[in-house]
Amino acid sequence: MSNSQKLFNNAKKVIPSGVNSPVRYFEPYPFFTKKSDGAYIWDEDKNKYIDFCNGYGALLLGHRRKEILNAVSKQLTQGTLFCTPTESEIELSKLIISNFPSIDKVRLVNTGGEATMTAIRLARGFTKKKKIIKFEGCYHGAHDSVLVKAGSGSAHNGISISEGGLNEVSKNTLVVPYNNSEELEKTLTKNKDVAGVIIEPILANMGLILPEKNFLSEVRKITKDNDIPLIFDEVVTGFRVSPGGAQQHFGIKPDITTLAKALGHGFVIAAIGGKKEIMDLLSPGGKVYQASTYAGNPISVSAAIASIKTINKIKNKLYSKLEAYNALLTHAIGDMATDMNIPHQINFTSSMFQIFFTNKPVIDYTSSKNADAKKFQKMFSVLLKNGVFIAPSQFEVVFLSDAHTQTDLNYTMNAYRTALKSVKN
Ligand SMILES: *Cc1c(COP(=O)(O)O)cnc(C)c1O
Repeated sequence: MSNSQKLFNNAKKVIPSGVNSPVRYFEPYPFFTKKSDGAYIWDEDKNKYIDFCNGYGALLLGHRRKEILNAVSKQLTQGTLFCTPTESEIELSKLIISNFPSIDKVRLVNTGGEATMTAIRLARGFTKKKKIIKFEGCYHGAHDSVLVKAGSGSAHNGISISEGGLNEVSKNTLVVPYNNSEELEKTLTKNKDVAGVIIEPILANMGLILPEKNFLSEVRKITKDNDIPLIFDEVVTGFRVSPGGAQQHFGIKPDITTLAKALGHGFVIAAIGGKKEIMDLLSPGGKVYQASTYAGNPISVSAAIASIKTINKIKNKLYSKLEAYNALLTHAIGDMATDMNIPHQINFTSSMFQIFFTNKPVIDYTSSKNADAKKFQKMFSVLLKNGVFIAPSQFEVVFLSDAHTQTDLNYTMNAYRTALKSVKN
C-alpha cells in the first residue's frame, strides 16, 4: 500500500471524506503532498509531478517564489497578527488601485467566497434591492446565495443547491446562461428587484469557457442601462490574465471587483474593491456590515504586496511567455488528439486551458456538461501516473506558471500523448 493510500485511510477517520475541500478528492484516492518548489510538487511516496493545478491558479509565479518568501520572512520577525491598522495595508490598497483603475477603495478579507459574499451584500445595500443575477456554471464560493448552478466542485458532484442551503436565499438568485446577453436582458425586464449581476469575466469553473466577442460589453451596457452594479469576480483572472485582470484585458470597467487566488500567492488573502460611493457603504462608516479577525493580517499583506510588485516588475516578459507556452502546449495537444481521431475541443487563453472530449464547441454550462467527463477522468489518471498533475476535474482548468520551463512543456506533451492514447476508442 502506498503512503498516500495509508494516509488517506487515516484521514477519512478524522476528516470528512478525507479532504478539506471537495475537489481535492479523486478516485481511487488523492495523493498526499510532502512539499513543492517552482513548477513541481512531491508526494509522500517520493513521486515528483509537474504541477499544473498551481493552487487552482493562485501560484502564477510558481511555488515558493523567492520574492514572496523573502517578504513573508521579513514580516515574521515583526509579528503575525495585530488586529490594528498597519501602514502596509495602505501600500497594498494603493497597489491594487493602481493596477485596477475601476477600483477607488479596497477592503481586505481572507477568501474568495468571503469577497463575493461581501460584494453581493454591498450591491444590495447600494441599490436597496434584493435579487442577484448569476450566470450558469460560474462559481463564486461556497455560500448560499451563489451555490446555485455553480461550477467547480459543485458541478463535479452534480449538486446545484446544497442540502442545508436555504431556498429562501437561493430563490433570490436568478440564473442566466453564460454567453447569452439576451437572456440577461429578458430577466431584467421581468424582475424589477435586482440588486446586482455577478460574473466570472472568463468562466474558469466549468472547465475553461471564454466570453464570446461583445458578450462582456453587452453585459456592461445592460447593467448600466438598468442602473445595476456589475460585479466582476476576478478571483481567478485577477493578476493571471493581466496585471489588471480580465477587466484590463477586455477593456471593461465593472462597479465592484473581487480578487483572491493570485493576490496572495499561497497566503490567505482576498479583496473587494470598487467605486468609492459603493465601498464607503461598508461599516463602521456605512451600514453594510463586514468584519473579520484575520482581515489584512500582516503576513498575508506582505505576501500580496510582494506578489503585485513582482508581477508589475516582470509583466512585460511574464504574460508573453505564459501565452507563448500555453499556445505551444495547447497546439501540440490539439494536434495529437486530431491525429488520433479523438473528438475534442480545447479552450485556451493567457495561461489557462482545458480540453473537452466532444465535437461541439464548449461555450456554456450545458455544452461543458455534455463533454465526456469519463474520458477526462481517464486522461487525468494517466497524466498523473506519468508525472503531470492537473486539477482532478473536467470542470477545473489547467494553469501554467512562470516556473514552467520548455523542458517541462516537452515532458508534459509526451505525458498528454500517452494519456490521449488511453482515451482513444
Ligand atoms: C476559487 C473561486 C472563488 C472562491 O474562492 P475561495 O478562496 O476558495 O473561497 C470565488 N470565485 C471564483 C471565480 C473562484 O474561482
